Amino acid sequence: MTKQQVHPVLGVGFGPANLSLAVALEELGRSADAHFIERADRFQWQEEQLLPGADIQNNPFRDLVMPRNVNSRHTFVNFLASQGTLTDYLHLNAKFPLRREYAAYLSWVASSFQEVVDYGQVATSLSLTEDDGGDEVFCVETAQGQRHLGESLVLGTGRSPRIPAPFRQLGSTVFHSTRYLSSVKALAGQDLRIAVVGGSQSAIEIVLDLLDRPNVAHVTSIHRSIGFRLKDTSPYSRQVFLPEFVDYFHPLPASTRRRLRSELRSVNYAACDQDVIDRLVGIQREYDLTGSQRLQMMPFSEVTAFETPVSGGPHRLVMRDINHSAQKTLDVDVDVVVLATGFRDFGTSPSDEPYHPLLEGVAHRLPLDEDGVPVVARDYGIELKVPAHRSRPLKVYLNGLCEASHGMGDAGALAMLSVRASDITEALLLQGTPQPAQHLAAGASQ
Ligand SMILES: Cc1cc2nc3c(=O)[nH]c(=O)nc-3n(C[C@H](O)[C@H](O)[C@H](O)COP(=O)(O)OP(=O)(O)OC[C@H]3O[C@@H](n4cnc5c(N)ncnc54)[C@H](O)[C@@H]3O)c2cc1C
Repeated sequence: MTKQQVHPVLGVGFGPANLSLAVALEELGRSADAHFIERADRFQWQEEQLLPGADIQNNPFRDLVMPRNVNSRHTFVNFLASQGTLTDYLHLNAKFPLRREYAAYLSWVASSFQEVVDYGQVATSLSLTEDDGGDEVFCVETAQGQRHLGESLVLGTGRSPRIPAPFRQLGSTVFHSTRYLSSVKALAGQDLRIAVVGGSQSAIEIVLDLLDRPNVAHVTSIHRSIGFRLKDTSPYSRQVFLPEFVDYFHPLPASTRRRLRSELRSVNYAACDQDVIDRLVGIQREYDLTGSQRLQMMPFSEVTAFETPVSGGPHRLVMRDINHSAQKTLDVDVDVVVLATGFRDFGTSPSDEPYHPLLEGVAHRLPLDEDGVPVVARDYGIELKVPAHRSRPLKVYLNGLCEASHGMGDAGALAMLSVRASDITEALLLQGTPQPAQHLAAGASQ
């Protein structure tokens, strides 16, 4: 019988979070210890929203590695130099790089890790099995028929899209923003009236993009709030993106964490950058002056029902004014609905999920807190409960899925990738073959 291969570290998802982890392991000469499974057929970063002119919201020095290791070959600056564009970039004096440029940087780094990634593999189930020595290990199976074993598991899948209750039936004309570009391209050439639900940075970028498309006749922008609100970019508020904040946040009781997150929400959620708000307001003023009805804003509105005739055709949105609690029907039917409604957290509110769906396979072994949510340690690990006849504890690490337990800087931010990768790497190495922690100190050589 052939020996089963067991990877010391098995990663699911190869986006920026697990890419940063691969960089951290490489620094310690441990690249070959890790193997990753990625759904896309090649490296990509939020490709469905790679919109012309969109920039990133992150200082590019806080890239995959620089805050930990300025000498790494995988920095954004080295990427620019390798492309011969460093001077051009610096000359621009841009606050943030374009998303397209940053995506190219991430792909450039990922190209160094081709041999440790299986692309085009969708992880569909997670279970526990035994290796040839009888030790318990993780087993991930993919829709494409692969089976991978790992001593430790790192989930770096990003969060599940949040789909508001009325829109359970998604399709080619009703889709989440994570399907935006391919869906809109498929409808090219058709005259479209489109509703965009949400008040986030993604929502406003999509509204702007749609208004640039000649086949889009009408855009309705629907939000619960008063309109597109400005992101809280105060450096004081942005302390949530510092490792010290994670140290402060993580030990708090769950109810205090919830309160703090809701207080600091506009640092990252339901809020937009000044530049895109200015662009949209300018367009709206232009429409007002020329009598164009092309853009309709629906503030304080919540979609309560969504109807599509059995014969197909336009969708009708039934809405409620959230302050007057009065029903209202949108005065235009729409051909397309884009749900820029964000992502699901792990928690107990109705729109949350208790844990990542892949963890269902080990649910019976998850340690849960009083709310029924898995207990995630400061090192991002969930230590599975150990049955009486076993001795070795198994750990699942959540890489980029810990906003509820580790604070705002976790799920939605590039800024924390490199330091989080250090934390997880350190924990992985301590768990397996111990390595001195100082190897991970800032400035470590490659
Ligand atoms: C449009 C957009 C723009 C953003 N811009 C910024 C920004 O400018 N600044 C910032 O700080 N943050 C930004 N973010 C936040 C974003 O979460 C992070 O930038 C970053 O993408 C997080 O990386 P990640 O690896 O955790 O998740 P992801 O980027 O979502 O990567 C997860 C990967 O896992 C794969 N995967 C998922 N499920 C499976 C499965 N079952 N099997 C196999 N593979 C799987 C996916 O294909 C994907 O490649 C943005 C988010 C979006 C949606």
